[in-house]
Amino acid sequence: DEDDDEDKKRQAKKRKLEFGGQVLVDLGFDEMMNDKEIVSLCSQLAYTHSANRNASFPFSLVFTSVNGRTHQRLESLGDASYKRWANTTWMSESYEHLWKDTTSAQDTATTVAGDVQTAPASALEQMVSCPSVLSPTIAQNTFVYLTADTEDELTELKPNETYIIGGICDHNRYKNLCLNKAKESGIRTARLPIGRYLASLPTRKVLTVNQVFEILVKWVETKDWEESLYSVIPKRK
Ligand code: SAH
Repeated sequence: DEDDDEDKKRQAKKRKLEFGGQVLVDLGFDEMMNDKEIVSLCSQLAYTHSANRNASFPFSLVFTSVNGRTHQRLESLGDASYKRWANTTWMSESYEHLWKDTTSAQDTATTVAGDVQTAPASALEQMVSCPSVLSPTIAQNTFVYLTADTEDELTELKPNETYIIGGICDHNRYKNLCLNKAKESGIRTARLPIGRYLASLPTRKVLTVNQVFEILVKWVETKDWEESLYSVIPKRK
Protein backbone atom coordinates (compact mmCIF):
# COMPACT_ATOMS: atom_id res chain seq x y z
CA ASP A 1 0.00 0.00 0.00
CA GLU A 2 2.80 2.33 0.89
CA ASP A 3 4.36 1.55 -2.45
CA ASP A 4 1.05 2.36 -4.15
CA ASP A 5 0.94 5.70 -2.38
CA GLU A 6 4.45 6.51 -3.45
CA ASP A 7 3.59 5.55 -7.00
CA LYS A 8 0.56 7.78 -7.01
CA LYS A 9 2.53 10.68 -5.62
CA ARG A 10 5.18 10.20 -8.25
CA GLN A 11 2.58 10.07 -10.99
CA ALA A 12 0.85 13.19 -9.70
CA LYS A 13 4.15 15.00 -9.63
CA LYS A 14 4.96 13.88 -13.15
CA ARG A 15 1.58 15.03 -14.44
CA LYS A 16 2.06 18.43 -12.91
CA LEU A 17 5.61 18.73 -14.17
CA GLU A 18 4.29 18.21 -17.64
CA PHE A 19 1.98 21.21 -17.42
CA GLY A 20 3.48 23.25 -20.22
CA GLY A 21 1.45 26.41 -19.86
CA GLN A 22 2.70 29.78 -20.89
CA VAL A 23 2.04 33.18 -19.35
CA LEU A 24 2.78 36.37 -21.23
CA VAL A 25 3.08 39.81 -19.65
CA ASP A 26 2.20 42.59 -22.09
CA LEU A 27 4.43 45.57 -21.27
CA GLY A 28 2.91 47.80 -23.93
CA PHE A 29 1.44 50.42 -21.57
CA ASP A 30 4.40 52.63 -20.65
CA GLU A 31 2.85 55.88 -21.80
CA MET A 32 -0.21 55.32 -19.62
CA MET A 33 1.70 55.24 -16.33
CA ASN A 34 3.50 57.88 -14.29
CA ASP A 35 7.01 57.20 -12.94
CA LYS A 36 5.76 55.91 -9.60
CA GLU A 37 3.49 53.44 -11.33
CA ILE A 38 6.37 52.20 -13.51
CA VAL A 39 8.33 51.58 -10.33
CA SER A 40 5.38 49.67 -8.81
CA LEU A 41 4.92 47.67 -11.98
CA CYS A 42 8.58 46.61 -11.94
CA SER A 43 8.22 45.43 -8.33
CA GLN A 44 5.20 43.43 -9.44
CA LEU A 45 7.29 41.86 -12.20
CA ALA A 46 9.97 40.91 -9.68
CA TYR A 47 7.31 39.32 -7.43
CA THR A 48 6.00 37.49 -10.47
CA HIS A 49 9.40 36.04 -11.27
CA SER A 50 9.90 35.16 -7.62
CA ALA A 51 6.58 33.27 -7.54
CA ASN A 52 7.56 31.43 -10.70
CA ARG A 53 10.95 30.55 -9.26
CA ASN A 54 9.39 29.12 -6.13
CA ALA A 55 6.66 27.25 -8.01
CA SER A 56 6.81 23.47 -8.10
CA PHE A 57 5.65 23.72 -11.70
CA PRO A 58 6.79 27.00 -13.22
CA PHE A 59 5.30 28.60 -16.28
CA SER A 60 7.28 29.67 -19.25
CA LEU A 61 7.08 33.46 -18.87
CA VAL A 62 7.17 35.73 -21.91
CA PHE A 63 7.46 39.52 -21.71
CA THR A 64 6.52 41.54 -24.80
CA SER A 65 6.85 45.23 -25.77
CA VAL A 66 10.00 45.47 -23.65
CA ASN A 67 11.12 48.75 -25.18
CA GLY A 68 10.33 51.85 -23.14
CA ARG A 69 10.37 53.20 -19.59
CA THR A 70 9.56 49.84 -17.99
CA HIS A 71 12.56 48.38 -19.83
CA GLN A 72 14.75 51.27 -18.64
CA ARG A 73 13.65 50.76 -15.06
CA LEU A 74 14.36 47.00 -15.27
CA GLU A 75 17.81 47.75 -16.66
CA SER A 76 18.54 49.94 -13.64
CA LEU A 77 17.55 47.31 -11.05
CA GLY A 78 20.21 45.01 -9.56
CA ASP A 79 22.56 45.34 -12.51
CA ALA A 80 19.73 44.34 -14.90
CA SER A 81 19.08 41.19 -12.89
CA TYR A 82 15.91 40.52 -14.92
CA LYS A 83 18.21 39.21 -17.64
CA ARG A 84 19.05 36.29 -15.39
CA TRP A 85 15.49 35.34 -14.44
CA ALA A 86 14.96 31.67 -15.31
CA ASN A 87 12.21 30.53 -17.67
CA THR A 88 11.73 33.98 -19.15
CA THR A 89 11.74 35.28 -22.72
CA TRP A 90 12.01 38.99 -23.52
CA MET A 91 10.83 40.58 -26.76
CA SER A 92 10.81 44.22 -27.80
CA GLU A 93 7.86 43.61 -30.14
CA SER A 94 4.21 43.43 -29.23
CA TYR A 95 2.65 40.01 -28.60
CA GLU A 96 0.91 40.23 -31.96
CA HIS A 97 4.25 39.49 -33.62
CA LEU A 98 4.05 35.99 -32.18
CA TRP A 99 1.48 35.11 -34.80
CA LYS A 100 1.95 37.89 -37.36
CA ASP A 101 5.66 38.30 -37.99
CA THR A 102 7.59 35.45 -36.47
CA THR A 103 10.84 36.02 -38.34
CA SER A 104 11.57 39.47 -36.95
CA ALA A 105 10.49 38.44 -33.45
CA GLN A 106 12.85 35.52 -33.58
CA ASP A 107 15.77 37.83 -34.24
CA THR A 108 15.25 39.93 -31.14
CA ALA A 109 13.96 37.57 -28.48
CA THR A 110 16.18 36.27 -25.75
CA THR A 111 15.37 33.40 -23.47
CA VAL A 112 16.82 32.47 -20.13
CA ALA A 113 16.40 28.75 -19.78
CA GLY A 114 16.60 26.43 -16.82
CA ASP A 115 16.75 26.97 -13.10
CA VAL A 116 18.52 29.98 -11.64
CA GLN A 117 19.93 27.86 -8.84
CA THR A 118 21.66 25.47 -11.19
CA ALA A 119 22.64 28.01 -13.80
CA PRO A 120 26.32 28.94 -13.95
CA ALA A 121 27.37 32.40 -12.85
CA SER A 122 27.55 33.48 -16.45
CA ALA A 123 23.87 32.82 -17.02
CA LEU A 124 23.78 35.76 -19.37
CA GLU A 125 25.85 33.79 -21.83
CA GLN A 126 23.08 31.22 -21.89
CA MET A 127 20.63 33.64 -23.41
CA VAL A 128 19.64 32.14 -26.70
CA SER A 129 16.96 32.79 -29.22
CA CYS A 130 14.07 30.48 -28.65
CA PRO A 131 12.38 29.21 -31.81
CA SER A 132 10.00 26.98 -29.85
CA VAL A 133 8.42 29.94 -28.11
CA LEU A 134 8.26 31.97 -31.27
CA SER A 135 7.46 29.40 -33.90
CA PRO A 136 4.50 30.11 -36.18
CA THR A 137 2.72 27.19 -34.50
CA ILE A 138 1.50 29.54 -31.78
CA ALA A 139 -1.92 30.04 -33.25
CA GLN A 140 -3.71 33.28 -32.55
CA ASN A 141 -6.66 31.38 -31.13
CA THR A 142 -4.57 29.89 -28.33
CA PHE A 143 -4.02 33.32 -26.71
CA VAL A 144 -6.33 34.42 -23.91
CA TYR A 145 -6.10 37.97 -22.56
CA LEU A 146 -6.92 38.02 -18.85
CA THR A 147 -9.02 40.96 -17.77
CA ALA A 148 -11.49 41.65 -14.98
CA ASP A 149 -13.69 43.48 -17.49
CA THR A 150 -15.02 40.54 -19.48
CA GLU A 151 -18.03 38.26 -18.97
CA ASP A 152 -16.15 35.08 -19.86
CA GLU A 153 -14.83 33.22 -16.85
CA LEU A 154 -11.78 30.96 -16.70
CA THR A 155 -12.78 27.42 -15.81
CA GLU A 156 -9.40 25.75 -16.25
CA LEU A 157 -5.91 26.48 -17.58
CA LYS A 158 -4.75 24.49 -20.56
CA PRO A 159 -1.11 23.70 -21.28
CA ASN A 160 -1.44 24.62 -24.93
CA GLU A 161 -2.79 28.11 -24.26
CA THR A 162 -0.96 31.36 -23.55
CA TYR A 163 -2.46 33.58 -20.87
CA ILE A 164 -1.75 37.29 -21.24
CA ILE A 165 -1.58 39.58 -18.22
CA GLY A 166 -1.69 43.33 -18.85
CA GLY A 167 1.59 44.80 -17.56
CA ILE A 168 0.11 47.98 -16.17
CA CYS A 169 -0.34 49.56 -12.77
CA ASP A 170 -3.10 52.14 -13.22
CA HIS A 171 -5.00 52.21 -9.90
CA ASN A 172 -8.15 51.32 -11.85
CA ARG A 173 -7.96 54.48 -13.95
CA TYR A 174 -8.45 52.78 -17.32
CA LYS A 175 -11.57 50.69 -17.41
CA ASN A 176 -11.75 48.16 -20.29
CA LEU A 177 -8.21 49.01 -21.42
CA CYS A 178 -7.05 45.43 -21.84
CA LEU A 179 -10.50 44.22 -22.90
CA ASN A 180 -10.46 46.66 -25.81
CA LYS A 181 -6.87 45.83 -26.69
CA ALA A 182 -7.71 42.12 -26.83
CA LYS A 183 -10.72 42.82 -29.02
CA GLU A 184 -8.56 44.83 -31.41
CA SER A 185 -6.03 41.98 -31.56
CA GLY A 186 -8.84 39.52 -32.21
CA ILE A 187 -8.10 37.29 -29.23
CA ARG A 188 -10.29 35.81 -26.52
CA THR A 189 -10.62 37.27 -23.03
CA ALA A 190 -11.31 35.70 -19.64
CA ARG A 191 -11.57 36.83 -16.04
CA LEU A 192 -10.65 34.91 -12.93
CA PRO A 193 -13.72 33.27 -11.34
CA ILE A 194 -13.52 35.52 -8.28
CA GLY A 195 -17.24 36.17 -7.72
CA ARG A 196 -18.01 32.48 -8.09
CA TYR A 197 -15.70 31.39 -5.26
CA LEU A 198 -15.26 34.46 -3.07
CA ALA A 199 -18.82 35.60 -2.59
CA SER A 200 -17.87 38.61 -0.49
CA LEU A 201 -15.80 40.12 -3.30
CA PRO A 202 -16.98 41.93 -6.42
CA THR A 203 -17.03 39.75 -9.54
CA ARG A 204 -14.85 42.26 -11.34
CA LYS A 205 -12.23 42.81 -8.68
CA VAL A 206 -9.04 44.09 -10.29
CA LEU A 207 -5.84 42.50 -9.01
CA THR A 208 -2.16 43.27 -9.57
CA VAL A 209 0.02 41.48 -12.13
CA ASN A 210 1.76 39.33 -9.53
CA GLN A 211 -1.47 38.47 -7.70
CA VAL A 212 -2.98 37.19 -10.92
CA PHE A 213 0.18 35.23 -11.72
CA GLU A 214 0.35 33.73 -8.22
CA ILE A 215 -3.25 32.53 -8.57
CA LEU A 216 -2.40 30.84 -11.88
CA VAL A 217 0.66 29.15 -10.36
CA LYS A 218 -1.38 27.95 -7.40
CA TRP A 219 -4.11 26.62 -9.68
CA VAL A 220 -1.61 24.51 -11.60
CA GLU A 221 -0.50 23.03 -8.28
CA THR A 222 -3.96 22.44 -6.81
CA LYS A 223 -6.44 22.52 -9.74
CA ASP A 224 -8.68 24.24 -7.20
CA TRP A 225 -9.84 27.82 -7.83
CA GLU A 226 -11.18 28.44 -4.34
CA GLU A 227 -7.90 27.46 -2.71
CA SER A 228 -5.88 29.38 -5.29
CA LEU A 229 -7.91 32.57 -4.95
CA TYR A 230 -7.91 32.44 -1.15
CA SER A 231 -4.18 31.84 -1.01
CA VAL A 232 -3.57 35.19 -2.73
CA ILE A 233 -6.55 37.40 -1.92
CA PRO A 234 -6.75 37.95 1.83
CA LYS A 235 -10.10 37.13 3.39
CA ARG A 236 -12.21 40.03 4.57
CA LYS A 237 -12.19 40.64 8.30
N1 SAH B 1 -7.11 48.71 -16.14
C1 SAH B 1 -6.30 47.55 -16.34
C2 SAH B 1 -6.08 46.81 -15.03
C3 SAH B 1 -4.67 46.39 -14.80
S1 SAH B 1 -4.49 45.18 -13.53
C4 SAH B 1 -6.96 46.68 -17.40
O1 SAH B 1 -7.59 47.21 -18.30
O2 SAH B 1 -6.84 45.45 -17.33
C5 SAH B 1 -3.18 44.21 -14.25
C6 SAH B 1 -3.61 43.01 -15.07
O3 SAH B 1 -3.97 41.93 -14.23
C7 SAH B 1 -4.81 43.18 -15.97
O4 SAH B 1 -4.48 43.78 -17.18
C8 SAH B 1 -5.28 41.75 -16.18
O5 SAH B 1 -4.53 41.10 -17.19
C9 SAH B 1 -4.95 41.13 -14.85
N2 SAH B 1 -6.13 41.07 -13.97
C10 SAH B 1 -6.38 41.85 -12.90
N3 SAH B 1 -7.52 41.47 -12.29
C11 SAH B 1 -8.01 40.42 -13.01
C12 SAH B 1 -9.17 39.58 -12.90
N4 SAH B 1 -10.06 39.75 -11.92
N5 SAH B 1 -9.35 38.60 -13.82
C13 SAH B 1 -8.44 38.41 -14.81
N6 SAH B 1 -7.35 39.17 -14.96
C14 SAH B 1 -7.12 40.16 -14.09
